[in-house]
Amino acid sequence: MGKIQMTTPLVEMDGDEMTRIIWQYIKDDLILPFVDLKSEYYDLGMKHRDDTDDQVTIDSANATLKYGVAVKCATITPNQKRVEEYDLKKMYKSPNGTIRAILDGTVFRSPISVKGIEPNVKTWKKPITLARHAYGDVYKDTEIRVEGAGKAELVFTDASGNEVREKVFDFEGPGVLQALYNVDASIESFARTCFEYALSTKQDLWFASKDTISKKYDGQFRDIFQGLYDSEYKTRFDEAGITYFYTLIDDAVARVMKSEGGFIWACKNYDGDVMSDMVSSACGSLALMTSVLVSPKGVYEYEAAHGTVQRHYYKHLAGEETSTNSVATIFAWSGAFRKRGEVDKLPELVSYADKLEQATLSTIEDGFMTKDLVALTTMKDVTVCNTRDFILKIKERLTKLLA
Ligand code: NAP
Ligand code: MG
Repeated sequence: MGKIQMTTPLVEMDGDEMTRIIWQYIKDDLILPFVDLKSEYYDLGMKHRDDTDDQVTIDSANATLKYGVAVKCATITPNQKRVEEYDLKKMYKSPNGTIRAILDGTVFRSPISVKGIEPNVKTWKKPITLARHAYGDVYKDTEIRVEGAGKAELVFTDASGNEVREKVFDFEGPGVLQALYNVDASIESFARTCFEYALSTKQDLWFASKDTISKKYDGQFRDIFQGLYDSEYKTRFDEAGITYFYTLIDDAVARVMKSEGGFIWACKNYDGDVMSDMVSSACGSLALMTSVLVSPKGVYEYEAAHGTVQRHYYKHLAGEETSTNSVATIFAWSGAFRKRGEVDKLPELVSYADKLEQATLSTIEDGFMTKDLVALTTMKDVTVCNTRDFILKIKERLTKLLA
């Protein structure tokens, strides 16, 4: 049987440390024997980012705009220690930040469900996908430490010099003061991306804010979502048999905990920060979490939600055995292949992506797993695999599924 063909290259963003080792295993064992891989390769490893003054990161994001689908390995975001470790010319910005600034968009994260590894919330039968708005609010706030009595005001001066002025508070003693902002264009692109993602994955969409208290600020988020839904999405949602549901954030939290899952939960920036950690830890492990950046420009970037697993890498370098979980990185590849296959109308490539995921899940369900999952599973007889052996167990199953 010949290898599965591709027509358009994937943008391949290689990365750092243990995930870079896993990246190569996945290609050697799970991809290259079966797929005639077409990819445009960008090496986002720390050394090459430094050699190119980080131009490679910008180039990889621009290639994503050109081709439409990227798959990214975890990468180091340098701090002072890394600057010394890699003898870097400077402390480069987070590659994810650089890529997001070029692609714009919303990050959707969802847990990978595996039999034998049950979420801590008993009612959750299906994954909950969290969509976090990644612009503005408290992450771009301005704060003042008020030292003593005085008057606080909020002032906006428009382009012609007209002022809008609101009293915030008359301080009688020391306190704190904070100002936040957001812009309609970003909220609208967040809403649109969520509606499109709900349609493309055929899941209901929930959105929540605190509009009873924050009537203008959160009210604007609510109105933009509702306006877009009524004018552009209601008919398409009806046709797809899915719903859009708006409620208060505290009501949403209560409902989420009692739900079966299987929907997308769109959150404002801060709510998304907090709730994504809640959902992911309730589901067990960051190594069982997929992450995709969906850009309003119609392009997709798939990655794992975890980092480069530095501690395991140092063990690997020291010649010690590692048991690092490759599931999220495998699912980044399968997600990218599936999207490429759908866009290019290549059913064989879509089916390969499905089978790669099926082989990965059945390996765990057959009792072969990495160390991190052993602590979580309810299964009795399990075999702990090292990093490579786990991938080879998946290969056995994938070979059968593709035969
Ligand atoms: P990390 O790589 O996510 O690992 C933290 C710990 O979580 C590991 O030491 C390990 O615990 C466990 N873990 C994470 N992924 C695992 C996997 N696939 N299999 C098994 N265990 C796993 O976070 P970090 O150590 O804080 O960060 C390392 C580097 O990653 C940093 O330089 C950071 O900048 C970068 N980072 C990149 C991204 C990205 O590119 N998207 C995201 C986050 C962090 P045990 O050691 O207890 O086994
Ligand atoms: Mg957080």
